[in-house]
Amino acid sequence: MAGQKKGLALHWQILIGIGLGVVAGIVLCRITPYENWFSYIKWAGDIFLRGLRMIVIPLVFTSIALGVAGMGNSAALGRIAGKTLLYYIVTTLIAATIGLTLVNLVKPGVGASLNLAEEVTSIGAGEVSFIDQIVAIVPSNIFESMARGDLLPVIFFAILFGFFMNKVDARHAGTLNNLFTAIYEVIMKITFFIIRLAPFGVFAIVTNVVGKQADNPQALLGMAGSLGVFVLVVWGGLLLQGGVVLPLLVRLLGRQNPWRHIAKMSTALLTAFSTCSSGAALPINIRDSQEKCGISGKVASFVLPLGSTINMNGTALYECVTAIFIAQAYGIDLTLVQQVMIVFTALLAAIGTAGIPMAGMVMLTIVLTAVGLPLEGIGLVLAVEQLCDMPRTCINTYGDACGAVIIAHSEGEQLTI
Ligand code: ASP
Repeated sequence: MAGQKKGLALHWQILIGIGLGVVAGIVLCRITPYENWFSYIKWAGDIFLRGLRMIVIPLVFTSIALGVAGMGNSAALGRIAGKTLLYYIVTTLIAATIGLTLVNLVKPGVGASLNLAEEVTSIGAGEVSFIDQIVAIVPSNIFESMARGDLLPVIFFAILFGFFMNKVDARHAGTLNNLFTAIYEVIMKITFFIIRLAPFGVFAIVTNVVGKQADNPQALLGMAGSLGVFVLVVWGGLLLQGGVVLPLLVRLLGRQNPWRHIAKMSTALLTAFSTCSSGAALPINIRDSQEKCGISGKVASFVLPLGSTINMNGTALYECVTAIFIAQAYGIDLTLVQQVMIVFTALLAAIGTAGIPMAGMVMLTIVLTAVGLPLEGIGLVLAVEQLCDMPRTCINTYGDACGAVIIAHSEGEQLTI
């Protein structure tokens, strides 16, 4: 497979892995049903994903603590945090508005057949209120949050830890700094090692996904009609956000060439695309933002982990398109106020979405509940979830990478894009 070819850049190897995965998934399904072969392939993808997840918590903790400690004082922390949050909120709102506009123009849900809806089981995020989400940012037990992989509380604790690292005796601060730097560097080496397995992992993941879809006649049937148009609207919106809005911001606010930036970040973007997990792409995003783009550890270590949990441009866009698609399919007319409410709840839902596969679809319940749309509507889009999750995760990760460039430039850093 691709990984054996020496000298070929990693992103090409991953692309070949994706291509071969598509072919293998289709061919294997022709030979024998999905159930007969998937377990022989899927494990390789699972190992790759588990490997990436394995390093996320120590990486996020040490990198944020070091990043915040490296800012030196609370004014710098406040400034960088303020700019980061502003950038994240504004770009997410732009993405949601693009989704809202496109779905209203194209109206893919009007006349959609409700018979295709799959039954929705075990979706239960609807009851999580906004206040609950805020309260949950403060961990009651940091080890529990780490063990569960809850990034936001870990980030909160790491920011506090980094901040107060500067307030203790210089001797202790130095010890902590050396210790965290050492751990961080080892984790980065492990990251490097795991990333080399990406072409194989991605091949296995894509083969599995394509095989599962090829074996699902309902999805294929639906794609011929309004679901196909729905997917096109989602992809079109993501393309606008990822191909026009964000590159424009990189050019105007970050003063960098957006296409060279995309090329340098392609390994992270392809990993996000094929794994549907911006959390899994985070280690690669941090590494390449620093090593290839020249962004300082201080900025990359703060902006990227935070972004991977709260900045989800693709997810917000998807939530808007889907909520209104469902309203259209059920023949429910939404007022302008309700539509604006969808944009804002999509923002909150995207902030609360974890960087794992399908999380955005689960959070959709919050948006639907907020405007009184039927939760069963999610069954309409289940069949094409994978097709929507892949590109939206890619845009989620890309939005973070652009944020790092823009914040780094605003801090006067010389980048190497
Ligand atoms: N899969 C997405 C991500 O990891 C989240 C989502 O489902 O929208 O960024």
